[in-house]
Amino acid sequence: MSFMLQGTGVSGGIAIGRAHLISHAHLDVSHYTVPQKMIPAEIARFESAVAATREELEELRDSIPHDSPAEFGAFLDLHLMILADSTLSDAPRKIIESQHCNAEWALKQQMTYLLAQFDKIEDSYLRERKADVVQVVERVLKTLLGQRQQGKEQGSILVAHDLSPADVLLLKELQCSAFITDLGGTTSHTTIVARSLNIPSIVALHNARRLIRDNDLLIIDGTRGAVIVDPDKSVLAEYKLLQDQWELGKQKLKRIKSSRSTTLDGTHIHLHANIELPQDIKQVKESGASGIGLFRSEFLFLNRDELPGEDEQFEFYREVVQEMKGLPVTIRTLDLGADKHLRGAARMSANPALGLRAIRLCLAEPQVFRTQLRAILRASHYGKLRILIPMLSSASELNQTILLLEQAKQSLDADNIPYDGAVEVGGMVEVPAAALALPMFMQKLDFLSIGTNDLIQYTLAIDRADDSVSHLYDPLHPAVLHLVSHVIRSANQAGVPVAVCGEMAGDVELTRMLLGFGLREFSMHPSNLLTVKQQVIKSNISEIAPITQKMLKTDEPEKIRGLLNRLNA
Ligand code: PEP
Ligand code: MG
Repeated sequence: MSFMLQGTGVSGGIAIGRAHLISHAHLDVSHYTVPQKMIPAEIARFESAVAATREELEELRDSIPHDSPAEFGAFLDLHLMILADSTLSDAPRKIIESQHCNAEWALKQQMTYLLAQFDKIEDSYLRERKADVVQVVERVLKTLLGQRQQGKEQGSILVAHDLSPADVLLLKELQCSAFITDLGGTTSHTTIVARSLNIPSIVALHNARRLIRDNDLLIIDGTRGAVIVDPDKSVLAEYKLLQDQWELGKQKLKRIKSSRSTTLDGTHIHLHANIELPQDIKQVKESGASGIGLFRSEFLFLNRDELPGEDEQFEFYREVVQEMKGLPVTIRTLDLGADKHLRGAARMSANPALGLRAIRLCLAEPQVFRTQLRAILRASHYGKLRILIPMLSSASELNQTILLLEQAKQSLDADNIPYDGAVEVGGMVEVPAAALALPMFMQKLDFLSIGTNDLIQYTLAIDRADDSVSHLYDPLHPAVLHLVSHVIRSANQAGVPVAVCGEMAGDVELTRMLLGFGLREFSMHPSNLLTVKQQVIKSNISEIAPITQKMLKTDEPEKIRGLLNRLNA
């Protein structure tokens, strides 16, 4: 029977394909029946996942530098032992055979059983090894999940309940045609990474994971936020037509890739791209972006057990800088905390978005920060690199950052390693305190970038990742408009370059409003760039500005909306 689900569209376009239910590797493992004749294949799948995990652990152990502390190797040996034990490597096979279930489910059941046994152990050392068992099982589950995903036909539609940004990162390699989730706010990091998969995406569907079954035929309308399950023939035909039209529109847009991004009245507008990983550069080039306005460096730190060292980080940053061939690359220093965590990190804070996040975390862990600063500085030698500091709220944070950067430069001088001595340092304006005390930051910074995702979250007290309050998350709230326009105007007056790199910059409905506020640099996901460019080319700032001034003079949401419609008419 056909039915429809409504959520929030976060990436436009239409996809038609079969549902592929995915799960958080540990918490939400899928369960399905395996037919008798497929049991040997399912057991083989389990065995090959165990073998692949063993190889992965052995490789990790062999790659440990000789001078590392002995515990590193010991911990990997322990995990290899746990994996080899028949309670993990053999018992799940028997469960698959007797219960006719999938390998993930068998493994999860066995893990639950083992953990219960651990609880009975009196010896506290042994009892604490519970966490190691969970980590080993998670590794095998991830491998199984990867196998299943690779085995899926191209074009399937991923259906998930909730995923962390780190989980979505793992899906980047997949050839799926759409992505939908039950939870998630429109500017959560999970959504932002899902958007960078560059396929129609919908969040906040609430019951999709429960109501949709593996292999159901789905239509995803990312623009309207609608999912049609098991559509009838006429609906399917209509959507196929719409899909063709959408594709045609996208092809047409490519024609303006190398046009200059200049308004009708001759103002040049810089259109930069946001990325998470070096592999995103391909899409950046296809979009014709004139630089990278936000490189979210923390994504290198997710989905791994150890922090990346200086050399690995250096190669990661250098690759991007070299690939961009002299165009500016703005590397944001680590923004961990809130919804992005290191594997295994304790999540103690009651309000993680207000806790030890971003620059606060870096200053609390100066050794980690120093390593990153040295790696970024080293990469600055290979192109045009700029450093961006996230979540600044006080002068002391900025002063400490500048001091650590100076120390990093001195240590590179002492080691005779080259870097760009004039590397520019900018700050993100994403805490209202920074927006309201701007001169304090502008005196010491070379440029500013407004992170509207967090600025809205912190101004309106709306958790950007919580779909239950996402109806209150409002970029057009008068308080938000005042803060954004105030920062742009103040920076322009002081001659400090200012960009917007939050999701507002990629929302074509808001392009003209931001131009009217005086914004000349936008940084956004590359898939939005040509649409925004088309709008820039068709805009006349002298006609826009009087309307945006009126928007700032009213506090009535309906009037603001009406004026925005006039701007876009
Ligand atoms: C922002 O807050 O607007 C921003 C660009 O940073 P992030 O989305 O990574 O928090
Ligand atoms: Mg932010």
